[in-house]
Amino acid sequence: MNTVVTLERVTKSYGEVVALDGVTLAFPRGRFLAVMGPSGSGKSTLLQCAAALDPPTSGSVIIGDVDVSKLSETKRTVLRRKHIGFIFQAYNLLPAVSIMDNITLPLRLAGVRPDRAWLDELIDRVGIRDRLNHRPAQLSGGQQQRAAIVRALAARPDVVFADEPTGALDLRSAAQVLDLLRRLVDEMGQTVIMVTHDPAAAARAHDTLVMADGRVVDLLNAPSAEDLAVRLTRLNRAVAA
Ligand code: ADP
Ligand code: MG
Repeated sequence: MNTVVTLERVTKSYGEVVALDGVTLAFPRGRFLAVMGPSGSGKSTLLQCAAALDPPTSGSVIIGDVDVSKLSETKRTVLRRKHIGFIFQAYNLLPAVSIMDNITLPLRLAGVRPDRAWLDELIDRVGIRDRLNHRPAQLSGGQQQRAAIVRALAARPDVVFADEPTGALDLRSAAQVLDLLRRLVDEMGQTVIMVTHDPAAAARAHDTLVMADGRVVDLLNAPSAEDLAVRLTRLNRAVAA
C-alpha cells in the first residue's frame, strides 16, 4: 500500500471554531511532506487528527486499514503506539530520567521489548551515544530533539509526525535535525509529515501542503524556499485583510 494515512472529509470543530473544514487527503508512504500555512490555519489540528491523537468531529481517518475515528480512546492509543511516531516542538522529554530511559519508555509502556540493534542504529545515526546516561537538561536543544526523534522511531512506526520540530532550535541545530529527517526518509524509507513556518525547512521536504482556514489550498512538489515564502506572504496578507 502506498498510502500511510487517509483523511476523508475530516472536520474538526472547537465550539464555533472550525479548525479543519472537510479535509480529504492521502499521505503517501516514504515521502517527506511539509505542512505550511498561516497561524491558526489548522496545521496542528490536521496532525493531531491524522496521528489519531484527537478524534475528528466528523469524517474518517484511516491508518493502515483501520478507521480510527470509530475507535475508543483506548484502542486509538494502542494503534498509535504501533503505527505512529510524534515529534513535538518542545521535545517533551521527561526531565527526571535519563535519555536512554526516555527513549525506551513508550516501548515499555506498550509492553514491547526494545530492539537493541535497531535502537543502536538510531542512536548512532542521530549522534547522541555519549549522552544516553544524561538527563535532558544536560543536553542542548538540538541534542534533545535528536533524542526525541530516536524515541519517535523506536517502535518502527509507519509514519512520523513532527509539529514545528525546529521551532525552538538555533539555525545550526535546526539544519542538523532537517538533514536527519530527510535522511530517515531517503535512506530508511521512513514517512515524515512536518509542520513548519520556515520556507527553508519546508524546502528540505519532497512536497509541501499549504493550508488556509482549515482547508488544503495547495500541494506543491519540490517548491523552492523563495516560492514558498511568496505564497505564505500572500496567504498571511489575505488572513490579515
Ligand atoms: P495552526 O497549527 O495552523 O496554527 P491550529 O490547528 O492550532 O492552527 O488551530 C486552528 C484553529 O483551531 C485556531 O483557530 C485555533 O484557535 C483553534 N483551536 C485549536 N485547538 C483548539 C482547542 N483545543 N480548543 C479551542 N480551539 C482550538
Ligand atoms: Mg500549530
